[in-house]
Amino acid sequence: MPTLTLKPGREKSLLRRHPWIFSGAVDRLDGDPGSGTTLDLLSADGQFLARAAYSPSSQIRARVWTFDPSEPVDADFFRKRIRNAISARDTWHVAQATDALRLIHAESDGIPGLIVDRYADTLVLQSLTAGSEYWKETLASLLLELTGLQDIYERSDADVRELEGLPLCTGPLRGSINHSPLTITENNLKFTVNFTTGHKTGFYLDQRQNRRLVRGMSDGRDVLDCFCYTGGFSVNALAGAAKSVLSVDSSADALAHCRENVALNSLPVSRHTTLEGDVFQLLRKFRDEARSFDLIILDPPKFAPTAAQAEKAARGYKDINLLAFKLLRPGGILVTFSCSGGVDAALFQKIVASAALDAGVGARILEHLEQAPDHPVALQFPEGAYLKGLVCQKN
Ligand code: SAH
Repeated sequence: MPTLTLKPGREKSLLRRHPWIFSGAVDRLDGDPGSGTTLDLLSADGQFLARAAYSPSSQIRARVWTFDPSEPVDADFFRKRIRNAISARDTWHVAQATDALRLIHAESDGIPGLIVDRYADTLVLQSLTAGSEYWKETLASLLLELTGLQDIYERSDADVRELEGLPLCTGPLRGSINHSPLTITENNLKFTVNFTTGHKTGFYLDQRQNRRLVRGMSDGRDVLDCFCYTGGFSVNALAGAAKSVLSVDSSADALAHCRENVALNSLPVSRHTTLEGDVFQLLRKFRDEARSFDLIILDPPKFAPTAAQAEKAARGYKDINLLAFKLLRPGGILVTFSCSGGVDAALFQKIVASAALDAGVGARILEHLEQAPDHPVALQFPEGAYLKGLVCQKN
């Protein structure tokens, strides 16, 4: 087995069971491991620390499979991890009235680099690291064995693959995929998901419980859904008897898909309007026109993938939250999110607080929101907590 020996003192994060080793912590490599193959991580004094996948091109040089020196990394190992992840979802009853959920959430389910989402009877797989790529065919076979399904579509087209020196890769991995888009059910509402070309693996499954929450607070309200994508929040607001819903996105395709999802649920089309444009500009325009709403949802794309872009991201978040506070009627509700890994929950709350301050409005937090439970966060991997949200009520 090839080994990666760390510099003195650089074993600390592994002793805390964090699964990443950065290139700067590495003293020397012994052996000739191929990309994604397994090696042992040793402390400077030669003690075993962990068994990991080797990523020769990435700053994250190795990702841990196991901290147990007696555990081999083979098909049985992955069978156990996948079975464990699937049974955790059963425990949570995530699937009640829902047939779309994340089965494997990478590091947080003990399989760094692997994302698997289930959309009805189709699995969509994303392999993001050299390690998950090396084991991809094994993982695909195990997924079919353990779910009893037949179709896996691959969406390994995320930019992070380039950091791993891997080409972008999409297409059927197992079975014959001839049914995109397909229809899923989420909390009893139907959505079509285009898993071959949609964002991420096709749908933002991480917002499931937050959409449900919005459904419960929409009755009789004028709702503005900013960054609506295919209408996850808009459909829920209409299903929750909103008086009106205005769905805004910069993508005409997303808006067309949003209208389809409204129709699919036989919701009152007459209460729904879509508007194509840039949210930053449209919120200003609404302010200048003195328009107002009872409930505003802000679910923007990732402004800061890493902490380095946090400052620029903070300006973006502050801008839209400030404008939203101005557009809310007294007593109105703001449901605001950040999915930026580089902005943690405490910083996000500070940004929203300073937005309210500069808007000259008082508001209080009714609820703190996070990603759905099928996107778990391993306690030793806080980076897994990427989605945070606040429900604020304007005074
Ligand atoms: N709320 C959605 C997910 C939002 S994804 C859901 O529940 O499914 C982010 C969306 O923001 C994408 O659809 C993208 O097209 C859109 N977008 C990105 N930048 C934008 C901008 N400046 N103005 C308007 N929409 C934007």
